[in-house]
Amino acid sequence: MMNQYDCMIIGGGPAGLSAALTLGRARRKVALVDNGTNRNRVTQESHGFLTRDGIKPQEFKNLASKDIESYPSITMMDQTVIEIIKDDITGLFLVNTSENKTYVTEKILLATGIQEEFPLPQIRQYYGKSLFSCPYCDGWELRDKPLAIIAENEEHISHMTKLVFNWSQDLIVFTNGHQLSKKIQNDFEQKKIKAYTNAIKDLHGDDGNLSSVELEPGDNILRAGGFVVPSFYRPNKFAKQLNCQVDENGTIMTDGAGRTTAAGIYIAGETEKGGPSSLMIAAAEGFKAASSINMDITIERF
Ligand SMILES: Cc1cc2nc3c(=O)[nH]c(=O)nc-3n(C[C@H](O)[C@H](O)[C@H](O)COP(=O)(O)OP(=O)(O)OC[C@H]3O[C@@H](n4cnc5c(N)ncnc54)[C@H](O)[C@@H]3O)c2cc1C
Repeated sequence: MMNQYDCMIIGGGPAGLSAALTLGRARRKVALVDNGTNRNRVTQESHGFLTRDGIKPQEFKNLASKDIESYPSITMMDQTVIEIIKDDITGLFLVNTSENKTYVTEKILLATGIQEEFPLPQIRQYYGKSLFSCPYCDGWELRDKPLAIIAENEEHISHMTKLVFNWSQDLIVFTNGHQLSKKIQNDFEQKKIKAYTNAIKDLHGDDGNLSSVELEPGDNILRAGGFVVPSFYRPNKFAKQLNCQVDENGTIMTDGAGRTTAAGIYIAGETEKGGPSSLMIAAAEGFKAASSINMDITIERF
């Protein structure tokens, strides 16, 4: 007989870790599976999590794991989940991992986060060190510096530039070959923000610290960091394979408390929906989904 869990949590970022803690404290038998690809692993410090402002992402995970270790019904696994199959006869889920292991569970919490795709592959060398995507997370550290805003879509350019202007007024916008409307050009001119619509040829700097943006056909514009607007995607197809309904924007539909439209499948953290990037919001959503899971198990078994 295979080991059967009450809940398997896929993903050990703040959403999954917080859910594990909540379910462990509720005396549920839980497995947390994580493969170490949390989105903020590239950054040096995390900001804004009350009592942990400035903590290193790995230290945050270590402290959370230490909290969880106090609860014996939680097992933590360093593996990649590759497939989740529903057994239609028992209603249970079979979870297959990259280690060729199969586990059985009654409930699944998807807390697998999202990943980003950049308009230029070079951005990755600077991302998390001098280029960031969330001003609330890293704006304070870049305050008053000469910054680049790198984005291609006009709505994103406008939103990010207005937001970052609060932290530094020394801004230059780089659209990587995309034209801007007269309206936004006028808005920027009034605030003395220069915008280059040329394609970006390369980025320059040492050890992830941006020093300039090189444009086609050859101008090199000095900058000391900045913000980018990536595209975000889910790194796996579990929600789709498990028939969780999504809305017209691709957002997985929930009841607002982590329950998806597929029985037994719950979701928490950034994989559920976009919004401000925040460890705190992800952790809070992990708690919320875990209490839904616990409530559902309680009612089913009472
Ligand atoms: C550069 C950068 C800086 C940031 N700085 C801050 C900051 O200062 N303050 C702040 O509040 N937020 C910050 N964030 C945002 C923060 O990282 C996210 O909001 C948060 O990590 C989302 O939590 P999550 O649990 O939803 O996902 P994640 O933290 O991304 O965790 C998802 C987990 O799922 C696991 N996983 C995915 N697929 C599988 C699979 N198939 N099998 C096993 N495991 C899997 C991954 O290993 C990962 O650990 C930053 C983000 C970035 C990119």
